[in-house]
Amino acid sequence: MQEADFDFYSSHNQPPVLEDYNSFTSNRILKDAAHAYGADWIHPQAVKFGAAMGSSGMQQAGFLANKHTPVLRTHDRFGNRLDIVEFHPAYHEMMDVSINAGVHSIAWSANKYGGYLAHSVLSYLKQQIDEGTSCPLTMTFAVVPSLRINPEIADAWLPLALSDKYDPRHIPWYDKNGLTFGMAMTEPQGGSDVRTNTTIAAPAGGGIYYLTGRKWFCSAPMSDAFLVLAQTSGGLSCFLVPRFTPDGVKNKLYFQRLKDKLGNRSNASGEVEFHGAWAQLVGEEGRGVVNIMEMVRHTRLDCAVGSAATMQRALAEAVHHCSYRQAFGATLLNQPLMRNVLADLALESIGATVLAMRIAKGFDDALQDEQSNHFIRIATPVAKYWNTKRAVLALAEIIECLGGNGYVEESILPRLYRDVPVNAIWEGSGNVQALDVLRAMEKEPASLTALLQYFQAEKGHHPLLDQHLTKTEKLLTSNPGPLQAREVVTAIALAIQATELIHIAAPAVAALFCQSRLAPNNSAGWGCLPTDNMDLLLQTIAYAFQHQ
Ligand SMILES: Cc1cc2nc3c(=O)[nH]c(=O)nc-3n(C[C@H](O)[C@H](O)[C@H](O)COP(=O)(O)OP(=O)(O)OC[C@H]3O[C@@H](n4cnc5c(N)ncnc54)[C@H](O)[C@@H]3O)c2cc1C
Repeated sequence: MQEADFDFYSSHNQPPVLEDYNSFTSNRILKDAAHAYGADWIHPQAVKFGAAMGSSGMQQAGFLANKHTPVLRTHDRFGNRLDIVEFHPAYHEMMDVSINAGVHSIAWSANKYGGYLAHSVLSYLKQQIDEGTSCPLTMTFAVVPSLRINPEIADAWLPLALSDKYDPRHIPWYDKNGLTFGMAMTEPQGGSDVRTNTTIAAPAGGGIYYLTGRKWFCSAPMSDAFLVLAQTSGGLSCFLVPRFTPDGVKNKLYFQRLKDKLGNRSNASGEVEFHGAWAQLVGEEGRGVVNIMEMVRHTRLDCAVGSAATMQRALAEAVHHCSYRQAFGATLLNQPLMRNVLADLALESIGATVLAMRIAKGFDDALQDEQSNHFIRIATPVAKYWNTKRAVLALAEIIECLGGNGYVEESILPRLYRDVPVNAIWEGSGNVQALDVLRAMEKEPASLTALLQYFQAEKGHHPLLDQHLTKTEKLLTSNPGPLQAREVVTAIALAIQATELIHIAAPAVAALFCQSRLAPNNSAGWGCLPTDNMDLLLQTIAYAFQHQ
């Protein structure tokens, strides 16, 4: 070739950008789970929303909102307090599309079986464009049960909380077309152990209090109201703290600074002080933890859903890349070892997806069935623990599938890699989830009974699952202590994943999950699936992602 013929201006053997695809229809396990768990009715809406979330416009919005991060303006130029956070228009665009689609509200407004599942499907799709905006959406979804504790609060706030209109204006909540919510529990001296909270609530009569204190983390600071924990003479209590008082005056919440975070950068997380902030008691004094836990129970579901979604989003990039990229004479997807790696990651992704969706179904069932309520008491912290931890591990391997491209910001993977650990930390970190499972087993024995009955009913499907269930039953009934808590949670998570995959996925794919996750000497590393069946590996990958 002559020097003059050298092509400096186009690259070869690079894949096209993964955009303008449908993140719902390309995800077989998600479609099959929605169908199997009884929320088929969400299908048309999910197809529409999946197309929107896979569009180049929404993908671009995710990039922009994470590049142009929120800015706190504490004062105006004359020294007056403002306490507002400014977001890039792309942030508002993503919030607008999501709220219009009912990501935050469908669980409550569907009025038919499968509301939680529908919410989880939409949340899963939404998470794939941007993790940061999922935070205010989740809190707005999850606050509803806590607001319902006081009928007076519910009557006043719920119609706007469930509105499908996004209204980011900084004005009193009762003049708005739609609301968003946040929460503030964590203080400098303790986040997991909220009993150490020192924020004080002084009663002013009629359920109104004035709060003085400081919170170390308060995300989505432009929310219209926050659930806040503070001490009263009756003990730690839960309060609704709006940004504006009922007479339309800016409430005495002062945001000091925004955290400079590893990821989750499109979302703002502030430190806030309350200098006699107007607050309304939620429930009774002294019931603060119980009442805010109603919200946290729901945010934990979303953490499990969100981590499954991020893993799947990353995996889609890897499968897409490897379907085009050639090395050593074949596409990477056709290189046996890469196919093994991708299939193993696909098993992780579909396992996480069915686990999250099965918990969502449990929430739906629990509305009419006490047994399911007991089941999700343990299964929710299990899924929160497992999905959020496994996603962090999977992301590191997924990045490598794209080689150097995966390490470059334009590929989205560095952002997903930075975003994904937060789900493991907030809403109760890993150890806290594992210890919560032990607490439930001890203090609410009906939850353990429900889980054991679930296991019992699932025997006989696969010998490795049978062995695992028997081993897990022994572990659970041996009075395990904190040193075994992670072992307990891991065993339960794998049992539910394998069981549900057996019900939903092709038998050979589910069997591969059992062989690779439940066999006594299974490998610790990715890409060691015990099969030489290349077609089965491809079939497994297609469960997680297949470009339509
Ligand atoms: C980006 C971001 C946004 C956030 N937004 C909010 C928000 O909006 N509102 C809010 O209230 N909080 C928020 N948080 C705070 C978050 O919920 C807490 O960081 C989390 O609950 C952990 O509390 P901590 O940081 O005080 O850690 P600690 O409570 O000190 O825990 C540190 C570690 O110790 C472990 N641990 C705790 N107890 C035990 C035990 N008994 N045995 C063994 N291990 C234990 C924990 O699992 C954790 O790994 C946010 C955090 C982040 C990172």
